[in-house]
Amino acid sequence: MNIQGGTFMGEQQFPLKKRLLANYDYSFDRHGVSGDRLASRLHQLAQIGLTADNGSNRPGFSPQELTAKKLVATWMEAAGLIVTTDGAGNVFGRLEGNNPTKKTIMSGSHVDTVPNGGHFDGTLGVLAALEVVEAWKKTGYQPERTFEVVIFSDEEGARFNSGLLGSEAVIGASQINEKLQLTDQDGYSFSEVLQSVDLTVEGYLASERDMEEYELFVEVHIEQGKRLERNNIPCGIVTGIAGPCWVEFTFIGEAGHAGNTPMNDRKDALVAASEFIQLVPTIPTKISKSAVATIGKIAVKPNGVNVIPGEVSLYVDIRDINKTDQENLTTQVKEAAKEVAHKHGVELTWEEKIRVSPVPIREEYQAMLKDVMKEQEIEPYYLPSGAGHDAMVIGEKIPAAMIFVQSKDGISHRPDEWSDLTDCVQAVHVLKRFLEKQQ
Ligand SMILES: [Zn+2]
Repeated sequence: MNIQGGTFMGEQQFPLKKRLLANYDYSFDRHGVSGDRLASRLHQLAQIGLTADNGSNRPGFSPQELTAKKLVATWMEAAGLIVTTDGAGNVFGRLEGNNPTKKTIMSGSHVDTVPNGGHFDGTLGVLAALEVVEAWKKTGYQPERTFEVVIFSDEEGARFNSGLLGSEAVIGASQINEKLQLTDQDGYSFSEVLQSVDLTVEGYLASERDMEEYELFVEVHIEQGKRLERNNIPCGIVTGIAGPCWVEFTFIGEAGHAGNTPMNDRKDALVAASEFIQLVPTIPTKISKSAVATIGKIAVKPNGVNVIPGEVSLYVDIRDINKTDQENLTTQVKEAAKEVAHKHGVELTWEEKIRVSPVPIREEYQAMLKDVMKEQEIEPYYLPSGAGHDAMVIGEKIPAAMIFVQSKDGISHRPDEWSDLTDCVQAVHVLKRFLEKQQ
């Protein structure tokens, strides 16, 4: 999948199906799994909300997302699934298991995208779960446990800068008062946006499910990083989903005239903040291999050419897959800020904006995935998920597992997001065998 002649890869992706099948290894068309069908479905979904750059534009709760859900629902029905939609617009395709006393397994992801996003993020997870059903149907396999293929609404949060709204409704983490305050970029409120796709706030609230009925949620997703590609591995075992913690730090010094204030008589908030910015990247490696901290947003006041900065606010995004490590990292980042503020004689305040608990993935599921990988002649490779996913939300209530698929150049949320079909199909086989081992 090389970018040829410097042309933008998005241009070359179409027709998507043809490109996907161009170097597909058909030896993976076995046990009822079809690369052709998967490619065709990825292609058809990519047509919905197709942008001028050949990207995808299907914001959560948009007509495009709804059209994509309806298309997948027709495939679900054709595969023999009982399709229902809840009040949050989440779509469930249910395959009744042979043994009604056993708990249900759920697998899927989302079909919404960021503006001008790619064609694999989310959609692959939904289609992978559906492909397992197709394979079972083809081979006459009947699972003991009921299996549900799910499409969660608005995972990306492109609409309200929030995300995960569908999966949150399912577990009842609706924090509805906060959501009612949301407005999208066109000024539409949460309830107005729901109404635009024939949903209501009441229906959204009523979408909470009894999670006791579920054994496990498993999500196939593109890696959105480069680890699998670097190691030449089609798909990997996710060890945990990092929860983000956002802390806003404000360094308060004294604004003054850049010409008239001597160097030894300054309280420059930006000089202090910049030392902190240098310090933050050195902290995570002291905590764990998966810990990360990022400063991506900063505001300087008054932000004038000839004014000593009086106040600097910045956000630190802190993540790790282990809760204690996430907490330790947060504490150490705060300590570093305190020391720097003290050294520069400026004041410091901070406010934790969000803290999402990381979701660990049980050893037993990781071990089962390892066995499946070996069976499929894939070298087991473990990696954390730095980004949040529906599995992070569902994982608050029931055990979750994730399978990452190799991403080309780690690119995601862009039209040139790419995963080779052979890798996608291998992930389907891993998911299928993993599910069969849960019966
Ligand atoms: Zn996603």
